[in-house]
Amino acid sequence: MKGMVRGLAIFDKEHRLIVCNNLYREIFDLPDELTTSGATFADIIAHHVSRERRLDAKGDRALQQRRINEHLTALSEGKPFQQTRYLKSGRIILLSSQPLPDGGWVDIQEDVTAERQAEKKIEWLAEHDALTGLYNRVHFRDELQSVLASGRALAVLWIDIDDFKGINDAFGQPVGDALLKSVARRLSKVVRKSDVLARLAGDEFALIRVGPIAREEVEHLAQRLLSAIAADQRLLGRKLHVTGSLSIALAPEHGANADEILKNADLALHRAKISGRGGYEIYDPQGDYACGRAKRLDIDMKVALKKKQFELHYQPIVDVATRGVSSFEALIRWRHPERGLIPPADFIPFAEESGWIVEIGKWALGRACKDAAAWPPGIKVSVNLSSVQFEKGDLYGAVSEALAESGLVPGRLELEITESVLLRDHPKTHELLHRFRSFGVKILLDDFGTAYGSLSYLRSFPFDKLKIDRSFVRDCVGVNGRDCAAIIQSIAELAKRLRMTSIAEGVETAEQLAMVTKAGCEEVQGFYFSRPVPIGEIGATISRCREILSSTVQTSA
Ligand code: C2E
Ligand code: MG
Ligand code: MG
Repeated sequence: MKGMVRGLAIFDKEHRLIVCNNLYREIFDLPDELTTSGATFADIIAHHVSRERRLDAKGDRALQQRRINEHLTALSEGKPFQQTRYLKSGRIILLSSQPLPDGGWVDIQEDVTAERQAEKKIEWLAEHDALTGLYNRVHFRDELQSVLASGRALAVLWIDIDDFKGINDAFGQPVGDALLKSVARRLSKVVRKSDVLARLAGDEFALIRVGPIAREEVEHLAQRLLSAIAADQRLLGRKLHVTGSLSIALAPEHGANADEILKNADLALHRAKISGRGGYEIYDPQGDYACGRAKRLDIDMKVALKKKQFELHYQPIVDVATRGVSSFEALIRWRHPERGLIPPADFIPFAEESGWIVEIGKWALGRACKDAAAWPPGIKVSVNLSSVQFEKGDLYGAVSEALAESGLVPGRLELEITESVLLRDHPKTHELLHRFRSFGVKILLDDFGTAYGSLSYLRSFPFDKLKIDRSFVRDCVGVNGRDCAAIIQSIAELAKRLRMTSIAEGVETAEQLAMVTKAGCEEVQGFYFSRPVPIGEIGATISRCREILSSTVQTSA
């Protein structure tokens, strides 16, 4: 059956079957007498209807007659005919008919089950977090905003797992993921149907309870949520003792809009964390939140810029067709004198909140362009941009200056933005992106398909490249493997149609590499080729990637 992906049948003008192929028999499980020439179209349709999932309350006969009429009317007008059929077996079949000049027609049946499921999944992902199935940050914010706009009172409870990073590092990511899922399940049991429960990011969960709520009641809810998490967790054969910290902000007392409520809940959460594990804190409008962690970090960052403590590491992105390195992604690290090498996830969010990202980002652009100017001319450099850089500071100036000072050809610079940049919908954003593109800089959409209304963003700007989020690649083997592989394939196809290059990130194994290449991804990034490396290892990394590509290709040939 391989290679033959469509069921085909030809009918004559008397509505009798001339010939059909095996797949045509197989899809609707047609008996022999309905696949021999001369079988009537009406009998075949009657059989088809018996195999369909009944969406129709009327009897089979009425449905059969309707199907026949629709089909024949379209064909008699010389028009092609197309409809989707949902079978009891779960398969989804796209049926199309093409009229033939002699009055007969060709019936084509195509199994579109995988595509339709992937489309549904992409829609679902726009509002949900793929790992836990809870709502995602975007949906949470939308809900929060719409409740606030309606003038109703509400409480936001923000929950963070204590030392999640430590657990993840000590037991590995599978245990970390299992913990997040388990926490999601446990929290779901405590909440009401009308509550909005979401995973905002990493190990952060949050809940909106709509309606006026008394202090004692909200505190009682906080305690129940915390005890739900704290009960001993058995995960993948390990017993863990887990606790969470929680903060509460109430509307209208603690803020009139979503940003204010979330900011205040965040401040209270820091306070809860500092006070020790497993506790909760209600936002206090009179509280002094300006000291402590935030202030210390602020000073540290100023020093870091001055003392040049930031450095860029580079991770290769390989081109499957040319079997070489296409570009290097610049990934920032902070070499802290006491805390060692700090990954971006631990300081970029703060840098964005405090505005330091503008200066850090400008530095990264300059450094990356200078470094890349010394590489072989075919190799590009990708620099990550934060949404804050589009709103504050002079991003246009930073990019043009970086190019001018390094002498790097603009076509060798790629700017990576995430959906959050477009989500904020700042008036300058599109104009800036178009200006960069007009002088040859490539624009890449990073972490595609995760948290936001991804598909709509593809229409809003003509991206050059689309980087499929690594969560899909991670899950493409194992139980959910088929779904993820189907999603990757759909995104890669979509990218191709929109003339964008698709990149798969987070490829760690040969198996994943084979999967994403088969799915049509043109470029690949991940630990399988190389972790991010310091500038001194660029040359060796280029050669190593070539070796890996040629040996992978040889073994799979
Ligand atoms: P990103 O842009 O999606 O970068 C890819 C991240 O995935 C990097 O983490 C990289 O080390 C990691 N990664 C790559 N391949 C694999 C793999 O096979 N398996 C796994 N598990 N991980 C892989 P990193 O360096 O920690 O960076 C995290 C994020 O920090 C980046 O995500 C980016 O959003 C941000 N970031 C890094 N540098 C900058 C910067 O200069 N400016 C801004 N605004 N953000 C930056
Ligand atoms: Mg990136
Ligand atoms: Mg990414």
